[in-house]
Amino acid sequence: MNEYLKDVLHDINQKNLNEQEFLQAVKEVLGTVKPLLNSHPEYKKLAILERITEPERIITFRVPWVNDKGEIKVNRGYRVQFSSLIGPYKGGLRFHPSVNQSIMKFLAFEQIFKNALTGLPIGGGKGGSDFDPKGKSDNEIMNFCQSFMTELYRHIGQDVDVPAGDIGVGAREIGYLFGQYKRIRNAYEGGVLTGKAVSYGGSLARKEATGYGLIFYVREMLKAHNTSLENKTVTISGSGNVAIYAAEKAIKNGAKVIAMSDSNGCIYDKNGIDLELIKQIKEIQRGRIYEYIKKYPDAVYMEKNSNDSPIWTIKTDIALPCATQNELTLNSAKILVENGVLAIGEGANMPCTQEATDYLLENNILVAPAKAANAGGVATSAIEMSQNSMRYYYTFEEVEAKLERIMINIFNSCKDSAENYGCTGNYVAGANLAAFSKLAEAMIAQGVV
Ligand code: NDP
Repeated sequence: MNEYLKDVLHDINQKNLNEQEFLQAVKEVLGTVKPLLNSHPEYKKLAILERITEPERIITFRVPWVNDKGEIKVNRGYRVQFSSLIGPYKGGLRFHPSVNQSIMKFLAFEQIFKNALTGLPIGGGKGGSDFDPKGKSDNEIMNFCQSFMTELYRHIGQDVDVPAGDIGVGAREIGYLFGQYKRIRNAYEGGVLTGKAVSYGGSLARKEATGYGLIFYVREMLKAHNTSLENKTVTISGSGNVAIYAAEKAIKNGAKVIAMSDSNGCIYDKNGIDLELIKQIKEIQRGRIYEYIKKYPDAVYMEKNSNDSPIWTIKTDIALPCATQNELTLNSAKILVENGVLAIGEGANMPCTQEATDYLLENNILVAPAKAANAGGVATSAIEMSQNSMRYYYTFEEVEAKLERIMINIFNSCKDSAENYGCTGNYVAGANLAAFSKLAEAMIAQGVV
């Protein structure tokens, strides 16, 4: 291993001992940029690795709120402003009980590279809270969002830091957050949050963008290997924003989506999932996925009883993990390979464990890495920001066409970088190399700041 890389990894391990997800994300990136370090010995003197792995700022804060029974609850809020090298910090907010500093830092770190790949002027950040929105009333969600924004507002702004949604934060939450921001600031700064509803400054096609973008990327990857989505079977974990719109676009491309899941289990419908029913259950009723079998008793429901999701035991051509980090383990990767999987498209952030990714690549499975393949969401958020600045709206078709062009460009830059650095077909390395070299160049240009 390159000596400089070895020393830096050792220091990062020491400094972030209890942050497993963050260390995993850093090792995954740094493990693939060796060819760049070898061809740029000056990176050591310029401390490029040390600077790129240290967040510019981490903010944590108390979020007190009152539930419907009049009880006072306290959660912890976070905003990790990791890098403003190429634009204002940009990245979503996650509301989920598992949220902690390690998860926030890993997501913000990934976001820097993802945002660089889009080719748009956006830096990297992430935030959220350990608040669990499940089972909460609308009123409780609003109380929480208002309290969260009462602290967050002082750290964000359309030229400073622009949050958006993520797990547990959809259009409803963004609406409450935006309302409170506007009230405190006494100004209509539309570009301070993205993922807004279209009625007050959101972009058409933002809701669909991450899932659609994932399918555009997978389509390009398959095309480069002389195949397509046509008549392929697809399994998709999750049934949230990313999963639903990945399913919609996969079906439009002639694929058959045979399984989807939520955190309790998955449904397998060999005739092809009825996506309208999934939308009804998940987007409108906010229910559980097993309700699907009430209408389709021939479909199978498999409960999740361990770390390994049952969805990956189903034979499929293409697997799209679109739920959460580390949801596709080495065990699952082995079963997928044994069952003849052709490609993996990461819709969620870091959904494959490092061991799973290594195993898939060793077995010549095509892997579309998250920071490239799910960049369509943030790219469309940047398009939302530009519409807000222009006081103008693009049509759905205009936004989708821009998104498609961006995803094709991202795939091509991953492919070209992989080829240039001697790892043709390894899009995981290609994505890291393309993004890293751009960021290092910006860092050198801006001096020691
Ligand atoms: P949603 O909250 O809309 O949906 C998340 C889905 O994943 C739900 O079906 C949820 O099930 C499931 N899930 C969440 N946590 C777990 C868990 N610990 N184990 C198993 N299943 C789980 O989130 P999104 O669709 O927005 O986000 C999904 C992933 O995509 C995340 O990794 C996110 O960071 C990433 N992403 C999202 C973008 C976006 O634009 N929304 C952009 C880029 C990446 P349940 O309903 O049971 O909780």
